[in-house]
Amino acid sequence: MAAPDFSSHRLPTDTDDGMVVIISGPSGVGKTTITRGIERSIPDSVFSVSWTTRKSTGIDVEGVDYHFCEDAEFEAMKALGGFLETAGVYGKKYGTPKAWVLEQLKRGRLVILEIDVVGAITVKKQIPDAYAIFVLPPSEDVLLGRLRSRKREDEAAIQKRFAHAKAEIEEAHTCGVYNLFLVNENLDESLGKAITAIGAERERRKHKNL
Ligand code: 5GP
Repeated sequence: MAAPDFSSHRLPTDTDDGMVVIISGPSGVGKTTITRGIERSIPDSVFSVSWTTRKSTGIDVEGVDYHFCEDAEFEAMKALGGFLETAGVYGKKYGTPKAWVLEQLKRGRLVILEIDVVGAITVKKQIPDAYAIFVLPPSEDVLLGRLRSRKREDEAAIQKRFAHAKAEIEEAHTCGVYNLFLVNENLDESLGKAITAIGAERERRKHKNL
């Protein structure tokens, strides 16, 4: 599978203010709601649909939430250089489609990646001006309560996620890739803050490039 070549044509709707926005945060923190809220509120934003070898939960929609694939398909895509980054989470593989992201950037869009800290570190190496937001819970107790209230898993699985979340928060603080830490006390407020921060960053870049 050869990567498509988008270098030769420019559409009348293309602009020069493409930007990658990374959203990370532990499960149960509300990052998907914030991510989808950003996508709805910023007209030229597009959500990058990752590839994953994890099974669909039934709530997930193929091609909207993820591209679900078998391990062999994932590895074949990886071998062809098809991913901007990949990471393993709870024994499953996740990857960001490279050609699609680069095409959207070229079109001047705001490309949203909802990825973990490992992925964010890799993306920042390749696209240093990616704007990265980490969503934090108001406290560890609140996070544990939210994980329990989802009623998706048994207590052992919840504790595993909780331990993973604490380690990920620690790594997010020390890795130096995040531009903004957003404590999610209230979803509407957090979404508003994320949209304002992204808008301000885009404006700043526009003026820098004038
Ligand atoms: P879930 O399986 O619960 O949807 O996602 C598990 C974790 O994998 C989340 O932290 C999510 O942000 C992360 N994730 C989803 N897609 C990607 C991806 O393409 N790359 C990386 N590095 N992480 C991803």
